[in-house]
Amino acid sequence: MANKKLLITTPIYYINAEPTIGSSYTTISVDVLARWNRLTGRDVFFLTGLDENSSKTVESAKERKYSSIQKYADDMAKEWIGTWKILNISYDNFIRTTSKKHKDFAQKYFNKAYKDGDIYFGDYEGLYCYGCEDFKREIDLKDGSCPYHKKKPTKVKEKNYFFRLSKYQKEVLKLINSKNFVLPSFRRKEIINFIEQGLTDISVSRPNLKWGIDVPFDKTQKIWTWYDALYNYYSGVDKKYWKGEVVHVVGKDIQKFHSVIWPAMLLSAKEDLPTTVFSHGFFTINGQKISKSLGNNIEVGKLCEKYSVDALRYFLMREIPFGQDGDFSEEGLKSRLNNELANELGNLVSRVLSIAGKKLKGNVSKQTIDKRLSSKLNIKNISKLMENYELHNALGEIMKFVGECNKYVNDQKVWEKSEKELEKDLYNLLEGIRIISILFYSFIPETSEKINKQLNVKEGKIKDCKFGIVNKYKIKKGELLFKKVN
Ligand SMILES: [Zn+2]
Repeated sequence: MANKKLLITTPIYYINAEPTIGSSYTTISVDVLARWNRLTGRDVFFLTGLDENSSKTVESAKERKYSSIQKYADDMAKEWIGTWKILNISYDNFIRTTSKKHKDFAQKYFNKAYKDGDIYFGDYEGLYCYGCEDFKREIDLKDGSCPYHKKKPTKVKEKNYFFRLSKYQKEVLKLINSKNFVLPSFRRKEIINFIEQGLTDISVSRPNLKWGIDVPFDKTQKIWTWYDALYNYYSGVDKKYWKGEVVHVVGKDIQKFHSVIWPAMLLSAKEDLPTTVFSHGFFTINGQKISKSLGNNIEVGKLCEKYSVDALRYFLMREIPFGQDGDFSEEGLKSRLNNELANELGNLVSRVLSIAGKKLKGNVSKQTIDKRLSSKLNIKNISKLMENYELHNALGEIMKFVGECNKYVNDQKVWEKSEKELEKDLYNLLEGIRIISILFYSFIPETSEKINKQLNVKEGKIKDCKFGIVNKYKIKKGELLFKKVN
């Protein structure tokens, strides 16, 4: 898979609120994967954006006293783009589902499915959760309520267009059972159970809505927001990327839409299928569920101001095992910033560059490679962990190598040595730091750029993660990489 193109996506987010720590987490994780794969030399396309056609948009615009829903959507888009800029998100396209291009796509595919007989008109009577924007069956509920929104769904009786999901049950099941389609693989069982209860045809339009994309041949109906939203993965990207590896990263609550409904839509349209739907877990804040009523959501911008963007990126990726549930606490963030980033990484760079500056005026030439240090670096293992989406473990391994470099400084008692003796140690340490900077780039890009500037080297690729590449260092020590927070 190494040279294949990669399309990697976040879900498109609802705009009923500003970006939260949860959506930031999803987006940072995709950013890390996109950056890493670019560093391996792959042609990567990273897509993110907003689902603006939901009725949540209408409600929120009203709550905030907007007279124009589109103006509200435009203002929210600015908010989201602004937050991703702060968080250093390297997306290639930011798709908005109110764009003409997207609307045309959604209508084109709706039309096609209708002509092919996969969409038909009928009566719907059942339940709808506006939080999920989803039709619910009794078996989907817990004590009569939506398990995600803890609210009783609304009873609706309406005429809808239906999509023949049932027709694709066998093919979708086969896909789910194929290797790497549903990741982490422990989520597969849940999806299989859902399918084996029997897939029923689903409503893909809603009548009497003022906002959304028109059903192309029936102006009294709007396309169901999920049906249109999923097509962002086609409308937002050059189709050539669908010929390579396609990875959707989603929250576990929307796994079903991506691994069941979306592939069925694509099978119907005879289009290419995604390679992987990876779902991450949820996290609590200080052990409590994040909720509006508890008011415990944290402002991402404020966290970045207080602790730095890279500290937040590092913490989220290191603390919460990717794919599983976890917990967020400011204490934890502070502790990882102070003890790992500042004390380990920051200190290593500062110590080594100080000695090189003082004793060798910053000039360090190529020396023999010291196996005692270079053998501690296991790039293959780190790459494997990244390929397996074990981002937290990859970070752990990189940090372990930082620890080895610090240990080397201590073991060699570098600061006690004469100029002549210490050049070999310093060269090896500088090579170690240069490699660390490459490995950390996907996670904490700003820090890597600072390190590269101090080392006076260009941004490297994964293939440059070996000792003995630089012939001569001419370093320029700069400010400390991290400020501790008490
Ligand atoms: Zn719900």
